[in-house]
Amino acid sequence: MAEYPTDPNCIFCKIASGDIPAAVIGETEHVVAFMDAFPSSRGHTLVIPKAHYPNLLEMPKEELQSFMAPVQDVTRAIQTAIQPDGIVLNQFNGKAAGQTVFHYHQHIVPRWQGQDRRSHGKDQADPEELKAVATAIRAELDWER
Ligand code: AMP
Ligand code: ZN
Repeated sequence: MAEYPTDPNCIFCKIASGDIPAAVIGETEHVVAFMDAFPSSRGHTLVIPKAHYPNLLEMPKEELQSFMAPVQDVTRAIQTAIQPDGIVLNQFNGKAAGQTVFHYHQHIVPRWQGQDRRSHGKDQADPEELKAVATAIRAELDWER
């Protein structure tokens, strides 16, 4: 049994436990980073805490401390691996804000000059392409798996 809260019906808890597949970049004791399956851009990554909390407002402060440094690690690895012109970090709290998966997560969205951003959560990416970009990002991340 995990020693942190989980929700058996939550898709991100199932990705964290390995019960459903995802293009995983890596994990620490506290977080998992994987490719968004319906990305806004190439390299669109999600970082989730392994612990299930619905959104930022409900995250205990001590959990946030072990969350944001790994988010920075992944953002830097994306920058080195695929060299976007910029990177947007966004995060939605509540249905009215556009949240669709109620397990706290940070989006990391690479952007290229002059390239329109697609909406997130709409068009499914090719799983093989997601695996390839995950492998490229992982190569720039010094986490142990
Ligand atoms: P939101 O709750 O609006 O912040 O976004 C949830 C994100 O999770 C969307 O961008 C979806 O594309 C993404 N997503 C949903 N299911 C999966 C999945 N099984 N694997 C990877 N990404 C997912
Ligand atoms: Zn969950």
